[in-house]
Amino acid sequence: MSGIYIHIPFCRKACHYCDFHFSTSLSLKSELLACIEKEIELQAGTIDNTKIETIYFGGGTPSLLSAIELESILNKISHRFSISTEAEITLEANPDDLDKAYLDELASIGFNRLSIGIQSFFDEDLQYMNRIHNSEESINCIRLVQESQFDNFSVDLIFGGHTTNDEHWNKNLEKASNLDIPHLSIYGLTVEPKTALNHFIKSGKYPPLDDLKFGRQFSYTQAYLSSMGYEQYEVSNYSKKNYRSKHNSAYWSEKQYLGIGPSGHSFVNGARFYNISNNAKYVEAIKNSQIPQKKEILSPTDLYNEYIMTRLRTIEGLRISRIHSFPIFLKKYFEYAKEALIESNELIQAEDQCYIPSDQRIFTDRITQSLFYVA
Ligand code: SF4
Repeated sequence: MSGIYIHIPFCRKACHYCDFHFSTSLSLKSELLACIEKEIELQAGTIDNTKIETIYFGGGTPSLLSAIELESILNKISHRFSISTEAEITLEANPDDLDKAYLDELASIGFNRLSIGIQSFFDEDLQYMNRIHNSEESINCIRLVQESQFDNFSVDLIFGGHTTNDEHWNKNLEKASNLDIPHLSIYGLTVEPKTALNHFIKSGKYPPLDDLKFGRQFSYTQAYLSSMGYEQYEVSNYSKKNYRSKHNSAYWSEKQYLGIGPSGHSFVNGARFYNISNNAKYVEAIKNSQIPQKKEILSPTDLYNEYIMTRLRTIEGLRISRIHSFPIFLKKYFEYAKEALIESNELIQAEDQCYIPSDQRIFTDRITQSLFYVA
């Protein structure tokens, strides 16, 4: 199984916390979309003889493209790759872009899943994050989606921000659950370098983020969503039965994927490829039939660390038999390092599986790091 990710690097407004690659200038849009199609051609054959099971348009804001622009890219993918008839085809969308006509068009050109950046149902939080939409648009958009052909959709929500007090956060979850949203991606706000949020904290406009609030809201989310029938199948992802994201699950399962567009990255045949995060340079290189990317061949240790990092984020955890397929020094290191974690109930081993129990999932980063092999 393989997946294709298409990065659309444009947004209408810069959210204060965001460090993804995007530009708020649309001046290069037409040229860049033509280059994405050309990169699809250049990449054809990279993952030979495998069915594409998932296609994901992320960004940036892919929903600022017209259905005609999106269809043209989808057509190019289907001409150059073999797409499974059951493929999950997702579009990331901002609420203000979705209306009935656009939703109908998206369904008719082949999209069968939406991932909607709601972030909060409170205007105070949305203004703090510098989101382009308001709370009324959030609710209206979800109702429109539910009346459309999309029964498979996800909503992003962000906790831990300065304006997101416990009352807001609990109500956000209640609203999401009452609206019967089948999949929720729940992210804790982080402060990334080169973001406006980082500048605001450095300049004293805001205090540092509150770790205790972060922990409280994370734990409340787990308890509340579990009581409402959601499964936390990955640290940041909750789904109702049969609504797990296939695309993201492939990232956590050592599956190969292609990332196309500026800042896209790929994992093919044990190597990682990183496309340049610069729209103008990307366009210039692709026009010359060069893919502007860096290649990193992953060593067995890199692959081991990555396996630990991705699999322990999931509810199933890792497979001991897979660990045993790594070179003996890594297998021995794992056997040694896991003992203390099992002793302290931070890790559970059950036959071939090893996973982080629900009450320890907030510490996933620390637990996985203690299993990393560092030469
Ligand atoms: S819309 Fe998404 S990609 Fe664009 S700035 Fe906001 S968070 Fe970042």
